[in-house]
Amino acid sequence: MPRRAAVVLLLLLLPGVSEDVAVAGTPDPRTSRPQVSAEPLAGRVVVIDPGHQLGNHNFPRRIHRRVPAGGFTKPCNTTGTATNGGYPEATFAWQVSRLVAARLRELGATVRLTRQSNRQDRWGPCVDERGRAGNATSSRPAADLKVSVHADGSYAAGARGFHVIAPPDRAPWTADIHRPSMRLATSVKAGLLSQRFGVATYTAGGDGIDVRSDLGTLNLSDVPTVMVELGNMRSASEARVMTSPSGRARYTRGLVSGVRRFLD
Ligand code: ZN
Repeated sequence: MPRRAAVVLLLLLLPGVSEDVAVAGTPDPRTSRPQVSAEPLAGRVVVIDPGHQLGNHNFPRRIHRRVPAGGFTKPCNTTGTATNGGYPEATFAWQVSRLVAARLRELGATVRLTRQSNRQDRWGPCVDERGRAGNATSSRPAADLKVSVHADGSYAAGARGFHVIAPPDRAPWTADIHRPSMRLATSVKAGLLSQRFGVATYTAGGDGIDVRSDLGTLNLSDVPTVMVELGNMRSASEARVMTSPSGRARYTRGLVSGVRRFLD
């Protein structure tokens, strides 16, 4: 619900307070009180990119089509990974992204998702479309940040933990967003650490933050952005966390905490 609509609705529920008061923005002396905002993210715009669509594997021709990815082309998308038990990365990213979006909206943010469903009969969007999501257009201003949600699939022994991927200082593609994206990466890492998730043992140099120039989702962004690999789905212990509602709630708290640290 838009913030103004929420305020109007709230005021309409209060006896004796007319809608005109809310629309005019004039404090009503009967109801005014010190401003303790329940919506600390009001006015902020966050794009959440919930990884691969579930049905990508059913559309190989479309998924393999090459698209611009930041000075080179790449396949439109990939199918993602899964736990050994068959829980798909697409579904994990979708479920966590929805929870994150719901919480950020409760906090007042406007949240846009790059896909609206998690279905076997759908595919995409391609990485170029994901990369441009959140950029300013003629009809709407740029988002404050974008987080692309994924999970990894490493078979290396003992591979576990999360890592956050930021774009490099590379002109003309991401030189402009490198620094704020690194700050976003640090914020998301701190958020996940605050929920007792550990950094990746098997990649990203051991500090949980990687910088990569090969990802169209990052390269085409004009707003601060990171991709987060929340864990290794092929790790039995991490798969248990990912497949449980309480585990997904914990990932959600970590990501929301990261977003709030960046926006504060
Ligand atoms: Zn992925």
